[in-house]
Amino acid sequence: MRPLVLMSCSIDSGGTMFQGGLSYVAALEGAGGSVMVVPPRTGEETLSTLCKMADAILLPGGNDVDPAHYGEEPCPANGRVEPEVDAVDLYLARYALQHGKPVLGICRGCQVLNVAAGGTLYQDLPSQWGGGFVLQHRQQAPRWHASHHVEIDPDSLLAGILGETKLRVNSFHHQAVRSCGPGMRVVAQASDGVVEAIEGVEATFALGVQWHPEGMLRHHPLQRRLFEAFIQAGLAGKTSE
Ligand code: MN
Repeated sequence: MRPLVLMSCSIDSGGTMFQGGLSYVAALEGAGGSVMVVPPRTGEETLSTLCKMADAILLPGGNDVDPAHYGEEPCPANGRVEPEVDAVDLYLARYALQHGKPVLGICRGCQVLNVAAGGTLYQDLPSQWGGGFVLQHRQQAPRWHASHHVEIDPDSLLAGILGETKLRVNSFHHQAVRSCGPGMRVVAQASDGVVEAIEGVEATFALGVQWHPEGMLRHHPLQRRLFEAFIQAGLAGKTSE
């Protein structure tokens, strides 16, 4: 019995659907889940139906969230925005938070989860981070390479899953969580203080990571645990119905 995971889907500048999404499918299938991809332009009635069917929700990486969703005007370095992707992502994230469905946000998905909870983002770390140094969060190394450390709160779901409180991760972002939304808390940070993971204070499984575990699985098998724990949470919800 495989839990059903709903996953939204980015579009690239040429309009091609599902850019880079296959690595998430492989990670979720490998962990025992079944994936259903929800494309942009899916209406709210359909989203509502699909969310009721789903056992878990995955918010993948992608472009920048429209800062209007957290009450800001776009700064010069804010990147490409896809309003139709934002609409689906935010619906899925809010549904998960409101109904206690297990939700895993990855990179942009971590940011979406925070915005859905009422938090804000740095639109662009290099130009907006005041004081202290900022690490290279847009690594020039291959995708699987773990380029900087994160320190994890030992008293967190994330630390329990990974069994570590300090490890190296990959990094492909110029945005990050700024203020945590109500009900969410920071559970991992890079050495410069940039937020690298958040989780729900009371939810059984509402986790956002700023790195890309799906791109690290072969070289850093520890990251598989994130997907395994997520699928287990989906399965637990399914069997308790
Ligand atoms: Mn980073």
